[in-house]
Amino acid sequence: MVMNQLVDSPGARSRIVIVGAGYAGYHCARHLERSLPRGAAEIVIVSPADYMPYTSLLPEVGAGTVDPRHIAVSLSGTLRRTRHVPGHAVGVDFTNRSLTVAGPDGQRRELGWHRLVLTPGGVSRTLPLPGILEQAKGFNNIAEALYLRDHVLGQLELADASDDPAQRQARCTFLVAGAGTTGTEVAAQGQLFTRAALRPTRGSAPASCAGCWSTAPRPSCPSWARGSPARPCASCAAAASTCG
Ligand SMILES: Cc1cc2nc3c(=O)[nH]c(=O)nc-3n(C[C@H](O)[C@H](O)[C@H](O)COP(=O)(O)OP(=O)(O)OC[C@H]3O[C@@H](n4cnc5c(N)ncnc54)[C@H](O)[C@@H]3O)c2cc1C
Repeated sequence: MVMNQLVDSPGARSRIVIVGAGYAGYHCARHLERSLPRGAAEIVIVSPADYMPYTSLLPEVGAGTVDPRHIAVSLSGTLRRTRHVPGHAVGVDFTNRSLTVAGPDGQRRELGWHRLVLTPGGVSRTLPLPGILEQAKGFNNIAEALYLRDHVLGQLELADASDDPAQRQARCTFLVAGAGTTGTEVAAQGQLFTRAALRPTRGSAPASCAGCWSTAPRPSCPSWARGSPARPCASCAAAASTCG
């Protein structure tokens, strides 16, 4: 709900506004702090989060081996000369050099700028894989990594509570779409995670599976080359599977 509109015009000093505090935005602010003489410019970073996530370790957060706090680089703790404006940039007026920011409190703020840096990153690609939009979850940020961890644990608990072998098997099977570095690491970490999680309930765990993680499709998969695979081809699925 929009309550009112705040206007924040730049003063005499040059104001540089950076949208997004991911890898690019964070390092842009850091570089500007180091290279500009003190007081030469006002640096502002617009970000919904007050930290920069160190994404390389997201698979470990998803697997519960790394605490999310340890991959969150605090903006206020490390960018001493940068002002953080919490919220999402929702509009830019290039003529009047003004950015519209929607804050977490529902308020909108017009933020004037002399220089604007847009680093909002990307979004999860859905790829030409049927079912991805309806079934899959993204894996781009800390919230999604924590969701994955909780979801996997929930599925293992439901499998443990079920008497139906097919359902138990299905609940213990996870498919990672995309077999690049991240997908492979998620599958590997996932397998370690599910094995460890099932250890205390080994007696009643699904007989054949301590968590089956597959990455699909591989870039060389012929189904993938045709562009619309309903599922990876059998040999690809077999080769990519890391069933424990
Ligand atoms: C799981 C995972 C593992 C990875 N591992 C590696 C690795 O090991 N090595 C490697 O080199 N790369 C890795 N990458 C890729 C790397 O994270 C990206 O290349 C890099 O983060 C891109 O930086 P960016 O600043 O462009 O975008 P991001 O880091 O995605 O940052 C964009 C930021 O902008 C914010 N934002 C978006 N829209 C708005 C808006 N409207 N207003 C304000 N803020 C907004 C987002 O919240 C986000 O924080 C990995 C990526 C993932 C997802």
